[in-house]
Amino acid sequence: MVEFAYQTLPWNIIFGAGYMKKLPTEMDKLGLKKALVLTTPNQSAAGEEIIQLIEHRAAGLFDQAVMHVPAETAAEASKIAKELGADCTVALGGGSTTGLGKALAVQMDLPNIVIPTSYAGSEMTNIWAITDAGRKVTARDNRAVPTLTIYDPELTLTLPPAFAGASGLNAMAQAVVNVATDKINPIVSSLATDAVRALYESLPVIMSEPGNMTARSQALYGACLAGGALGTGITSLHHKICHTMGGTYNMPHAETHAIILSHSVAYNAHAAREGTAQLARAMNTDNAAMALYDLLKKLGVPSSLKEVGFKEEDIEQAAAITVENPFDNPEEVNEKRLRKLLQNAFHGHPPQTVDQL
Ligand code: NAD
Repeated sequence: MVEFAYQTLPWNIIFGAGYMKKLPTEMDKLGLKKALVLTTPNQSAAGEEIIQLIEHRAAGLFDQAVMHVPAETAAEASKIAKELGADCTVALGGGSTTGLGKALAVQMDLPNIVIPTSYAGSEMTNIWAITDAGRKVTARDNRAVPTLTIYDPELTLTLPPAFAGASGLNAMAQAVVNVATDKINPIVSSLATDAVRALYESLPVIMSEPGNMTARSQALYGACLAGGALGTGITSLHHKICHTMGGTYNMPHAETHAIILSHSVAYNAHAAREGTAQLARAMNTDNAAMALYDLLKKLGVPSSLKEVGFKEEDIEQAAAITVENPFDNPEEVNEKRLRKLLQNAFHGHPPQTVDQL
């Protein structure tokens, strides 16, 4: 018997190679006249191209977006948006830039167009964040959902391959936790399962043939679906660990998700038996956690927390912080097992199920 509740988000998406060029007409359709373009310092030149593209519809460029949306950055961008009389933002970039557009959308009620260039998937969720005095606070607000998202796979061609792999696994994690769960929501799970298939197939092709546009397009589509699953679905142990790693130890976002993923899947494999089997089928394997671990190695992404700068002596504290507040998870989360999971992730050892931890 099927039983579920599902609430969608106000998504408005166009997707296609070369679609960035549609930005001026899309702005006109939405009645938006002056955009503050947002990028990171790395993607400043791409931001300048947007300014050229939208001509008189450009208010200016703010190219200081950084990870985790520091409150000072949001305040500075907001001041510039007001001074320039911007009536919307156009965020071109990964999750950090999208995050800035979302913060301004909520704080200033400013329509936000997002052009994602990584697989972070943030544009498909209503989760927005701000970091003040070293504390990252996240909340859900539908005003953060982009007024329009333009997916253009051509823009992902410049993603460095090593980061493409990590970012793709970050997207995969958003989908995986919504398939390998004991609380399967059929609509979310359909989105998530298709996301897993698309990413699992396309990411290795991108590594071997970086210019393969079919794979680039499939990976970005997978990221869109995965973000949709996260936006309307759940999070569990996996995201809780990664939140601790990012928030307390400033570990790199995408790489941390990539490293933890196989371990969190193995941890829940018994308690979420049916969902984990469905996840394995989506990857054409019989061991989902090992398939994710093998994929991580194949993509050449760092496979241990040690490689991304985490310190072994922090494992105990990280486990304690992760279980500080209760959260939903298929398997009971026990601090001792969590320490063992983190040790495995620290050394890059293969994932273990709870009975082995
Ligand atoms: P990022 O946005 O920080 O990007 C990493 C670097 O890659 C940046 O310098 C960026 O400019 C560059 N880059 C991105 N795309 C590029 C491209 N195509 N070519 C060349 N360079 C490119 O990293 P990310 O992993 O995309 O995003 C991480 C942030 O997103 C974190 O702060 C995370 O918390 C947030 N996030 C939020 C949600 C949500 O739902 N709110 C979901 C996922 C991620």
